[in-house]
Amino acid sequence: TETPAKQETETSGYKKLANGIVLGPDGKPCRTCNDVASLFALSGKKPKSITTTASTLPSDCPPDVEALGRSSWTLLHSITATYPTNPTPQLQSETKTFLSTFGKLYPCWVCAEDFQTWMTRNTPRVSSRGEFGTWMCEAHNAVNEKLGKDVFDCGRWEERWRTGWKD
Ligand code: FAD
Repeated sequence: TETPAKQETETSGYKKLANGIVLGPDGKPCRTCNDVASLFALSGKKPKSITTTASTLPSDCPPDVEALGRSSWTLLHSITATYPTNPTPQLQSETKTFLSTFGKLYPCWVCAEDFQTWMTRNTPRVSSRGEFGTWMCEAHNAVNEKLGKDVFDCGRWEERWRTGWKD
């Protein structure tokens, strides 16, 4: 027998519909936890003039999980790209605090939970730009793997986010 799409399961106090739609703490579908195409499919509504893929989501709409993710990775990798090669102990400590707070406040709660768990097993390495950039690349790869995406070559993170491609 098929599970009805609206049946809810509970994880860490939050709920998920059987069709995979993640609900927020208010019990409503969480926009920043789902992709916009799934949300439109759930509502049965058709968008006015856009195709419902993240790549065509108008830039002045609230972000879905994919738009939020792309912007967030841009910020995170750019922070590592401008991080000093020889940071002070104070900056290293502030960076760890930032990552811990970021992990708690990330607006997709399911993503945030997994990111926090990953960080408990992979303590942030912030002793230099190289270390931090590689660590962030590994963090991103953990999400890529979870989502079934290609793993990025962390030997090239600096080309992607700081210097530009060599070839
Ligand atoms: P993105 O994965 O956003 O990547 C953007 C660009 O970064 C790529 O085009 C590539 O050039 C580059 N890149 C890719 N991998 C790496 C790497 N390892 N190192 C350096 N550069 C790289 N989405 C979910 O659906 N579920 C989740 O649980 C989830 N957790 C997330 C946790 C965090 C902390 C963040 C920031 C995002 C999370 N996301 C999650 C969003 C997800 O990672 C993607 O951002 C989103 O699916 C859009 O993917 P994309 O294919 O457009 O490219």
